[in-house]
Amino acid sequence: MLKRAGWRIALCLALTAAACRQPPPLPPPAGVDAQHYDLTIRLDPAAQVFQARAVLDVRHPDTLTALPLAFEDLTIDSIRVNGVAVEAAREDDRLWAPVASGSRASRIEVAYRGWPRLGFYATERGGQQIVYTDSWPDEGRGWLPGLHHPADPATFALRLTLPRGYEAAASGSLHALDTLGAEVRYQWRLDVPAPLYTFAFAVADFSLTETTAGDTLPVRYYMLAEDSAYAHQLRRTPQALAFFSETLGPYAFDAYASVQVPMRFAGMENAAASFLLADLFPANRAEEVQIHELAHQWFGNRVPLAEWADLWLSEGTATYLTTLFYEHADGLDAARTRWIDMAALEARQATATALVIKEPRPPSAYLSWVPYDKGASVLHLLRRALGDDAFFAALRATYQRYAGQPLSTEAFQEILEAEAGQDLDAFFEYWVYGTDFPTLKTTWDPATRTLSWRITGDAGTLAGVPFDLQLRRRGRVHYADAEAGRVTLADWDDRPPRVRPVGVMMRVE
Ligand SMILES: [Zn+2]
Repeated sequence: MLKRAGWRIALCLALTAAACRQPPPLPPPAGVDAQHYDLTIRLDPAAQVFQARAVLDVRHPDTLTALPLAFEDLTIDSIRVNGVAVEAAREDDRLWAPVASGSRASRIEVAYRGWPRLGFYATERGGQQIVYTDSWPDEGRGWLPGLHHPADPATFALRLTLPRGYEAAASGSLHALDTLGAEVRYQWRLDVPAPLYTFAFAVADFSLTETTAGDTLPVRYYMLAEDSAYAHQLRRTPQALAFFSETLGPYAFDAYASVQVPMRFAGMENAAASFLLADLFPANRAEEVQIHELAHQWFGNRVPLAEWADLWLSEGTATYLTTLFYEHADGLDAARTRWIDMAALEARQATATALVIKEPRPPSAYLSWVPYDKGASVLHLLRRALGDDAFFAALRATYQRYAGQPLSTEAFQEILEAEAGQDLDAFFEYWVYGTDFPTLKTTWDPATRTLSWRITGDAGTLAGVPFDLQLRRRGRVHYADAEAGRVTLADWDDRPPRVRPVGVMMRVE
């Protein structure tokens, strides 16, 4: 996911009474593993009709008696467990669904209706009605009863029946589209498990552009009809799919789509169908968000998070992989600019600067620059410290081993250590669990045009790690090896240059 600059954080501060003080969503009970969600919806946006039936196949310990499904607001018509009607208790945002006693698997079927108010948005744009969902982090409980935790990914099938005249897009790939009198029925399937916060659909007057990546993978762009001319901003999507597949391992899903919606975030990595904020397109800012959400299809979606506290493994990785695409496609300068920006500490404040905070917090409390930009800069530093071979081997090994398996920060450290053949405890203690940053202190001698510098407070983690400092003055740019400690810019003027570390977060004095 990519927030709009500062927007979500401000919202979180404003909502201290509600969302931000809420306890974090609970992980599923031990031994519980949701396999598949099969959802049938009849939706009429104009008449505000939403009727649904969700069928959840779940494995669980035979000692379990009831499953706490997250579900809110809507009216339940019936609940069946393995075909037998049951009663279920509702308590706040929990639905306690009884499970088959003495059994290790249950099929829970819930029929419900109402007009969802959480994770579900109905709006208008240019006279067109638009309905879409946005389930991050667990707001899907407003329209789908389920185990809304990133560590329990599942497959998904959605049958959506609409009045004729609406176009729809959803997670997974489209398998059937039927016209039934005055209605149309879409059927999508997501056959590779992904977290529930990536299950989504959108209904609008879309204009569809179809292409392919690598000759066979269908790639679709769903643009709001009045913005269809902006679809060209997504033209490098197949190139990015090829680059990430080559760098990390094969793309896991059987299609990819981008869907333009007037959403609250800049983008959201819904499974195999990223949603992109409508306003990005007129501003010509869609590509970078698209690349970020695409990268999540590898990290965040195919490799799910063990806990919300590990969010940097999804957001920091997507942010860094985006810069790697620009390094690959547009060259080193395009990447260096982004590495400098993501590592810029000035004007950034956060009450908590550790990448991983052990005490539980609500997921929205993690939405700061820390998991995104500090996360990305720590990955860049790991790349510099380990070398390209070991670093990229570790990313590939992580993608291979943790496909469908929740990834923790500890497990990621183990893979990095194995690939690099070195102990990274001190590095992780400082950069991942720690709150400090090194200080870069510079001195300028105008007579000799010599800049000297010293880096302190890094707890030894930067020793022998090659990275650059960018020196800039009046349109002139020089990159200096940070280890050199000094550089003479003989033909520059006598004013000090601006100094910015390339990709490594530190305070510059
Ligand atoms: Zn993201």
